[in-house]
Amino acid sequence: MSLGATRFAKAEHVHGLQCGHAASIWSSIDSASQRYAPDRAVDIEQFDLDVTPDFKNRRVAGTATFTFRPILKPLGQLRLDAHDLEISNVTADGTGIAAWQNTDRALIVTFAEPIAEGGQAKLTVTYEAEPKKGLYFRTPEMGYDPGDTHIWTQGESIEARHWFPCFDAPNEFFTSTMTCRVPEPMVVLSNGSKISDSVNADSGLRVVKWSQDKPHVNYLITLVAGHFKRIEEKHGNLSMSFWTAPSDFANAANSFRYTKECMEYFEEEIGVPYPWAKYDQITVQDFHWGGMENTSQTTLNASTLFSSETENIRSSQGLMAHELAHQWFGDLVTCKDWSQLWLNEGFATYYTHLFAGHKDGINEMRYGLYRDRKSLTGRGGDTTAMVNRKYNSPEEMFRKYGFMSYSKGSWVLHMLRSQLGPELFRKSVKTYLERHKHGNVVTEDLRSIIEEISGQSFDRFFDQYVFHAHHPELKISYAWDEKTKLAKLSVKQEQKVDANVLLFHVRLPVRFTVDGQALDRSLHITKTEEDFYLRLAKAPSIVRIDPDVTLLAKLSFTPTTALLHAQLADESDALGRLQAVELMAKRKNKTTREKLKHALQNDPFYAVRLAASKALRGIGGDDAFAALTDSTDQPNAKVRQQVISDIATQYNPEALAALKQSLAGEKNPSIRARAIGGLTGHDDKAARALIDEALGSASFRHQLADAAVSALRKQDNPANLAKVRNALENDGTKFTTRGYANALGALGHLARNQKKKTPIRKFLVAHVNHPKRRVALAAIDALGRLGDPKALAVLDKFTGAAEDDPARKAAAQAIEKLRAARKPADDYKNLRKEVTSLKQSNSHLVKELGDLKKRFDAAIGKKKAEKK
Ligand SMILES: [Zn+2]
Repeated sequence: MSLGATRFAKAEHVHGLQCGHAASIWSSIDSASQRYAPDRAVDIEQFDLDVTPDFKNRRVAGTATFTFRPILKPLGQLRLDAHDLEISNVTADGTGIAAWQNTDRALIVTFAEPIAEGGQAKLTVTYEAEPKKGLYFRTPEMGYDPGDTHIWTQGESIEARHWFPCFDAPNEFFTSTMTCRVPEPMVVLSNGSKISDSVNADSGLRVVKWSQDKPHVNYLITLVAGHFKRIEEKHGNLSMSFWTAPSDFANAANSFRYTKECMEYFEEEIGVPYPWAKYDQITVQDFHWGGMENTSQTTLNASTLFSSETENIRSSQGLMAHELAHQWFGDLVTCKDWSQLWLNEGFATYYTHLFAGHKDGINEMRYGLYRDRKSLTGRGGDTTAMVNRKYNSPEEMFRKYGFMSYSKGSWVLHMLRSQLGPELFRKSVKTYLERHKHGNVVTEDLRSIIEEISGQSFDRFFDQYVFHAHHPELKISYAWDEKTKLAKLSVKQEQKVDANVLLFHVRLPVRFTVDGQALDRSLHITKTEEDFYLRLAKAPSIVRIDPDVTLLAKLSFTPTTALLHAQLADESDALGRLQAVELMAKRKNKTTREKLKHALQNDPFYAVRLAASKALRGIGGDDAFAALTDSTDQPNAKVRQQVISDIATQYNPEALAALKQSLAGEKNPSIRARAIGGLTGHDDKAARALIDEALGSASFRHQLADAAVSALRKQDNPANLAKVRNALENDGTKFTTRGYANALGALGHLARNQKKKTPIRKFLVAHVNHPKRRVALAAIDALGRLGDPKALAVLDKFTGAAEDDPARKAAAQAIEKLRAARKPADDYKNLRKEVTSLKQSNSHLVKELGDLKKRFDAAIGKKKAEKK
């Protein structure tokens, strides 16, 4: 699964499900956490689901049939996960049923006679549901384009039970079929191969049946049905399709274009053929995640689609590669329980980096790993091991602990590959997949295969990085002794060592450049503090620590200015230049500014140019700023966007002029959006007109109007209220769900100091029951911001909603905000004015100080000259 931009989905975390049934024979699990794999009383061999969605009423009717055999002993009773399912009938072949009970969380079936161990039995459940999770409708009644009507489902981690009865844990493999009945013009997509597709003469409904004839687990079952258009491609005999809602189809090819190349690369690199009958990718609207790797069929968030005019700023490559890698890692082999999630997500993340390396070059791969490492080592206080059972719900392993499951997992694999070499690593991974295919894996399975193949012990490695928390924090200092020709490197481990975090044993690679020659050395770090002496022919011109980005550690090393400048000039070392630029950002002298400007305009690697732009913004002052405005002419759109974003943070006439100039010529909507964001704060009529113009302009996904709404909100002028409200009333359907929701938030914010709040309150109240949940939640939140006590009665209604209804939490927070807003709001307004005027006088002072310094320097220079 890929996280994507889904801040909202955080509100939907799984709450404690009371589940205290003593008779939980099948899976006596604590459904709230599923920290351990549940018992399996039976082996499910086949699961058949037959469903009919009711698009108008957003309900589903179905029959679920399980074919199974008791594993160890005769089975008298069976428990299935079933969350708020309206079960009408339960039947069993052979023995028959004595009774069944629906607890709203589980279905418990008591057989007339116990089913003998090893004996095959069949159980059929007939039910209906109005699912709150698991199956989601996108219909005209909810505000979606009628031509795009569809449903999508999401199993991972434990949502499937909301739309069909099941064994809802990853430690049971079975084959399955999916039959779905829909209006005749619709398409039905599911796991495996399509075995029939016909229109029933009696019902007039299209009946489509799919079969997944290779075993997989419950959370990977998928159903997408509705109006879709398709692009198809073949990889050998394998069919690969990309489907979107009709209104999204125009841009489908952009997101599909690297799938074939990635498939070819993964088959080669992994060494195991793609394991499923087809590979389809389908974009669905308002998906809760970035993507989901159901077997043979990936669901993608339609937000991944982009128009060609955004150039290289947007790409689906990473998301596509991540989900495709999962078809092996997660789908062919599946983590046994959620504590082992890194075996799914770490592999998917790492193979995305490997594909970037294959397709875009080694620097791109190292840059990706470097960024992941920066974010991992930038956070402090992680005291939880990557494999942990401390989570309260499986979803926490994706969100709260997601940085470990994804980035740290990927880094652990990268270290293993760096230590083993690509060949041994490939052989280990191939063996791991072949030995455990269509089965569960735990970390020890991977470790033992690597040891078996390499003959090396990896106990310490896994103990440090996987079963204990954190990573080494190494402070490194360097000195050269000309007399002895010795380079001295002092290395200190600075991480807090305790029961959760070990003192690490790692190899730290170091590269010296002497007379243009690279000399690689490796320091074996085992102590809290140690000095290493290395003999070299002469003083090195460059000293690089971990030059190839192969060690997960926080590395603190600040070379001398001369070493840094040499590093920045090294054409063979893109990552070295990038790090040099980042270290130079802390220096403020003229040479640094000039070198950064040179890098921004000339470095061959775009990441160095990005970093140079950020560094110049950080340094600030007239010269650094002038370097930015001199560098807006960037052929690479990512860099152009960065430079405009950095200029947009400044409040001076030159910045305003540069932004206006950009907007006059720039075609790329992502860059235009940044420029529009930068127009706020300038007291300028033309700037305000540009924002207004953006609000009414047409752009893909209404991106420019979104930028205008954010700008109007930031300007915090009550006159903007009418503009935002008009846009919502007249052009509401042009906004994405997210854009519309943000605009509601802007209304609440802008009206908070108004005397007459009634019209805005009424407008927001009209949205609190909106069928798009994100819009409803945004309206509730905006009522909190608005601060009109008359909204209390409406908000109060939601506090009685179900425990796991996100509206309940949103309403409680809004009420709290309303009650806290007793202070006169004018205080804040005055404070803002003061800050703005302080900012202005501060920049005057800085400029005056600069002038004084110049005059002073000139005077001193004159004096010195006089003395000679
Ligand atoms: Zn994933």
